[in-house]
Amino acid sequence: MAGEVKYIPLHGRVVIRGQIRAETGLRIGGNPSGIVIGGIDNIVLRNPVSQLPYVPGSSLKGKMRSLFERYCGAAINHEIDQVSIHSCHVGGTNYEKCDVCHIFGVPAPSKEDKFKPDHPTPLVVRDVDLARIGGQTVDELDEYTEIKWEAAIDRITSAAVPRQMERVPAGAIFEPMELIYNVYSADVLGRLPQVFVALQLVEDDYLGGLGSRGSGKVRFEELEVVCKRKDGGRYKAVGKKEYGNLEALLSDGTFETWVAEQIAIKEAAAEEAPTEEGVTEETPTEE
Ligand SMILES: [Zn+2]
Repeated sequence: MAGEVKYIPLHGRVVIRGQIRAETGLRIGGNPSGIVIGGIDNIVLRNPVSQLPYVPGSSLKGKMRSLFERYCGAAINHEIDQVSIHSCHVGGTNYEKCDVCHIFGVPAPSKEDKFKPDHPTPLVVRDVDLARIGGQTVDELDEYTEIKWEAAIDRITSAAVPRQMERVPAGAIFEPMELIYNVYSADVLGRLPQVFVALQLVEDDYLGGLGSRGSGKVRFEELEVVCKRKDGGRYKAVGKKEYGNLEALLSDGTFETWVAEQIAIKEAAAEEAPTEEGVTEETPTEE
C-alpha cells in the first residue's frame, strides 16, 4: 500500500566461522594487468594490501548461489553483465517460497522495478585470506602458489600447446572464513539450514576456476556457530556450537531448535503494536 511504513526488525545474527581447506589446487583468477613482465598469464587473485591469495566473499557467495539455484530448480530468468541468474524480482515466480531470493537476495532494483523484497539480504559472506599451507603459516612461506602446466591438444595434428596456470596448492588453509546471517523474521531464521546445504553443494562441486580439470575441491571445517540476540540495546552473543565439518552440522537434529531458542524472536505484533489488553494493563487504572 502506498505510504505504508514498514518496519524490518533485526532480531539477531547468526555468525558462522571456520576455515576453507583446499583439497586440490585452488585457482581464483586475478586481473592480468597486475602482472610483471615475464610473468604468467593466468594469475591468482591477491589481496592488494597483504599480497596474499584470498577467496573473495563474492566468489564464495556467488558459487553457493548458483549451485543452490540449480538445487532448488529455480528459474534462470535474469541477466546481469551477460551472466544468467535466478531472481524473483522479474515476476512469474513464487517469491514467498523461494529460498534463493530470501537467503541470497535479489539484484538492486532499478527505477522501473515494482518488486520490493520482504527484507534486506540476510546472508553476508566476507573475504578470506590465505593463512597457511600444510603446517607452515604465510609468514614462514616464500611462495604461496604453484604453477600448473596444462596442454591443449590440437585435434588434427595432436600437437600439445602448453599453457601455465597459477594456483594455490593443495593443503592451503584460508581463515577466518566468516558468514553472517541476519535474522529479520522467523521465516528468515527458518531458512538458515539452507545456507549449510549451499556450502555443502560447493564442497561437492568446486570453488574458483578449472574445476572440471581438477582444481577447486574445498572443505569447510572447524566450524563455529555463534548466535547473537538483541539485548539491552545491542547484539550479545548468547550461544555457541562447534562442529568439525559441515556433515556434522547438517547431521545435528537439534540445530534448528537450538538456534531458534538462542535468537528467541519475540512476536512482532506484541512488541510493536500492543493489543488492547496490553495497553489496558500498562495504563494506570487510577489517577
Ligand atoms: Zn527467487
